[in-house]
Amino acid sequence: MVTNKNQKTKQITVKYKLYPEIYDSFKCIASDCKHTCCEGWTISISQKEWHDLQRLPKMPDFVGDKTVSDLVRRIPNGKGNMYAEFVKDKEGKCPFWNNEGLCSLQLEYGEDVLCKTCKTYPRISIPTYQAKELTLTPSCEAVLEQLWTKYNGLDFVMDELPKNQQKIMTISVSENMWRAFPQIHSLCIDILQCRSFNMSKRLLIIGLALKDLMKEFKHTSVSAWEQKWTSILQNPDVLLDLLNNIGGNDKLFVANNSGMLFKVLSNIGVNDLIKTVKKALEIKINEQRLTIETGKWKEIADKFSENYGDIEYFFENLMVLIAFNLVFPRVQTPEKLWTSYVELCSIYSLYRFISVAACFEKPTKEQLFHVLVLTSRAIMHNDKLREDVKEAFAKNNSDSLAHMAILVCS
Ligand code: SF4
Repeated sequence: MVTNKNQKTKQITVKYKLYPEIYDSFKCIASDCKHTCCEGWTISISQKEWHDLQRLPKMPDFVGDKTVSDLVRRIPNGKGNMYAEFVKDKEGKCPFWNNEGLCSLQLEYGEDVLCKTCKTYPRISIPTYQAKELTLTPSCEAVLEQLWTKYNGLDFVMDELPKNQQKIMTISVSENMWRAFPQIHSLCIDILQCRSFNMSKRLLIIGLALKDLMKEFKHTSVSAWEQKWTSILQNPDVLLDLLNNIGGNDKLFVANNSGMLFKVLSNIGVNDLIKTVKKALEIKINEQRLTIETGKWKEIADKFSENYGDIEYFFENLMVLIAFNLVFPRVQTPEKLWTSYVELCSIYSLYRFISVAACFEKPTKEQLFHVLVLTSRAIMHNDKLREDVKEAFAKNNSDSLAHMAILVCS
């Protein structure tokens, strides 16, 4: 590790790769896929990719006399990997998707011209303080199928990277928790996988553990914290009474998630899912006011359990993958630690809510995957939207542990 006193940064070498076991066995199901990655969401690109595309000559005949620049537009105030986006056609497909379901950009100019998302999807590579994390996004139905088959939970593999792939990472010296990140990250995943508790309680335990950790921020060692919470996981009775007294509130849960759902899904134009959810919950909107039939949520949630049986292991796998992909929790500051928890709870709550409500009329695995693919495309690939959700919770003073209990317990 090299410390630069003037710039207040440190450099660390990332020597390992860490990945869920499903990463290596992933296979695209190609023509069997009902949700091709070229449809139903907005693909965003970086500034460099935008400029590379601008330099390409006119497109082939299927797009008439349009040039690439007509089909890719700047995102207002966009930056990073969300600098510009492909302009979807009327059916929500990528404008470069041709009648044979092939990518005309690739056909015309070769694979090199593809943006990073299209080249690597659904694989993702994330540098963290701990390792180069390689993972898969749940917005691909073949990945959901892998999660579905892992009844005993997801395992992770850590390997040393070849020397030429080891990278230097620069971090701020004010991030005094970076050293402890692997322990914190790993304990949070352990809690998510602790089957002595149901998923709602596991999320609440993470909240309690992170509240506890926030007191430790001035120290650089979190060993005592780690030992304490590991021992609680091994002796679950200690917490059961406390957790059993924390209840949900169906009305607030549905109101919260309906608002979030309309915002998230209308963003990618999935109006049929919105209609299905409104119908299942008998939600009415009059002059911006939401009317919800109390009691309806419990009825359809019971029906969901009856239809699908015990698939909590599947939601566990899904949330473990999501927590891993989000590099959860963010340890830069106590505030970021907590907002990353709010983000995780709101994502879990939304996935549960939409799964139950949108599979009410058609309780099949196919429908569940359909709903989860679209929700993942809307929320997991839109950093700005997730930021907005976190900000909205903070602005309305709805980011307390008690409020998170409402989100995860119903
Ligand atoms: S969404 Fe997944 S399974 Fe479907 S075409 Fe894309 S990579 Fe293949």
